[in-house]
Amino acid sequence: MSTSPTTSQAKAAAESRWPESASLFDRATRFLPGGNTRSQLYVAPHPLYVERGEGARITLVDGQVLDDFLLNYTAAAVGYGNPHVRKAVERALATGAPFGMPTRWEIELAEALEERVPALKRVRFTNSGSEATLHAIRTARAYSGRTLVAKAEGAYHGSHDLTDFSVYTIADEPLGIVPGTRGIPAALADQIVLFPFNDLDRTIAVLEGRKDDLATVILEPFLNSAGAIRADGEYLQGIERWCRENEILLTLDEVASFRVSYSGAHSDAGITPDLICLGKSIGGGFAVGAFGGSEEVMAILDPRDSRHIKHAGTFNGHPATMAAGRAALEVLDRDAIDRMNRLGGRIVEGIRAIGADHDLPLTAAGYGSIGNIHLGRTPPRNAREALDLPKQPVVDLYWALIERGYVIAPRGQFSTCAVTTDDQVDGLIEALADCAPSALKDVDDR
Ligand code: PMP
Repeated sequence: MSTSPTTSQAKAAAESRWPESASLFDRATRFLPGGNTRSQLYVAPHPLYVERGEGARITLVDGQVLDDFLLNYTAAAVGYGNPHVRKAVERALATGAPFGMPTRWEIELAEALEERVPALKRVRFTNSGSEATLHAIRTARAYSGRTLVAKAEGAYHGSHDLTDFSVYTIADEPLGIVPGTRGIPAALADQIVLFPFNDLDRTIAVLEGRKDDLATVILEPFLNSAGAIRADGEYLQGIERWCRENEILLTLDEVASFRVSYSGAHSDAGITPDLICLGKSIGGGFAVGAFGGSEEVMAILDPRDSRHIKHAGTFNGHPATMAAGRAALEVLDRDAIDRMNRLGGRIVEGIRAIGADHDLPLTAAGYGSIGNIHLGRTPPRNAREALDLPKQPVVDLYWALIERGYVIAPRGQFSTCAVTTDDQVDGLIEALADCAPSALKDVDDR
C-alpha cells in the first residue's frame, strides 16, 4: 500500500505519541483488514486501542485516560463496567448459558420493554440493530404481500444489502439511489423508494406514486449517522397519518434514538408505529437488536400458525445479553434519561456558542443525549445539507480533543451516558473552545 508524505508524517507523529497503539495496529493489520473488525473504527493514520473503561472514561493501551463522549456510538448508555449490569450478567453466565432452548431471561427483557413501550406488544430479539431492521422489513413484506421499502435519503438502517442505499453517499440528482458500498447488487435499488427527509409534501408525493407496491415506510426519528438531525414532529405525524390512511405499515428505526426518551423517540412525537426496531442501549453493552410491534403484525412470526415466517439466530436471546439489557433499562430510568438529555443539550448549546463567539462555521445538531458537530453556520435539516459541509476538519478536531483528554467520534458524533457529569461536559466544551479556532481557521465557510 502506498502512503502519501503527509500520511507518513502523521503516522510518525502518532507513533511517537501513542506507541503502544501504533504497535498493536501493525500487529492487527497482519490479520484484520484495516487493523480492526468494524470499518467505521479505522481513522488515519491509525486508530487508538482501548485497554479498559470505567464509568464515562476510557484508558488507552498507551495509558492516556480520556473522558468518553463517543460511548461506542451511543450504545454505552449506562457507561462502562456498570456494577448493576455486571452483577446481572454474572448471574446469567453462572447458569452455563447459552442453550438451544429458551430461558426466562428473554421473557424478562421483553416484559421490561413492553412496560416502557406501549406500541411494543410483541417482540423478537436479534444480535444487532441491522438484523432487527432486516427482520422487521421481512415481517412487513410477508404481512403486506408487497415488496417495496421506502426510506429517507441519508438514513442508515444497518449494514444489510437492502437498506444500505444513499446513506453516506447520495446522488447529485434529487433522490437518485446509490449503493452504500461496492458489492451491493445494483438491482436491489429497484426495491427501494427514496424520500427526502424533513420535507413532508415531497415525501407524501413520492409515497403516493408508489403506494400500491409499498410493504413499509421505514423511518428514523433522527438521522443518526448523517449527524443527529432530528425529524420535525409534524413530519413524523404526517407520515404516520399517510400510512394509516393508506394501510401501509410504518416501521420506526429506534436503534439509536430509543435512549432519548423513556418510551422511545416516537413517544415524543406522539406517534404509534406498527413495527419498532431497537438495539444499542437495550443490550447493556452486549450485541443486541430487537424488533416488535402490534400483536396482529407480529403474529406472523408465531410458529403455531402454519403460515408463519422464519426468524433464526443461534445467539438470539442470549441470557447474558438479556440480563444486561434488563439491568441497563433499570439504570436508564426517567431521571437518568432526563439528565443525559440535559447534558447532551448543554454540549450542543456550548458548541453553537463557540461558533458564534469566534465567528466560526461551527454548529451542532442534536436530539436529547445525542449530538453531532457540523461545520456550517446553521444546523443541517437533512443529509444533503449535512454531507455538503466540510468533513476532514472534524477529524482534525477529533485528534485535537484527544490531545486534551476527550474523545468523540471522528465524524463529530457525541453522546452522554448515565454517569456523565456536568464537570466532564464543562471540560469538553472548554477543550473545544481551546482547539476549534485554530483547527477550523481555514475551513471553507459554506
Ligand atoms: N439503525 C440505526 C438507526 C442505527 O443507528 C444503527 C447503528 N448505527 C443500526 C440500525 C444498525 O445497528 P447495528 O450496528 O447494531 O447493526
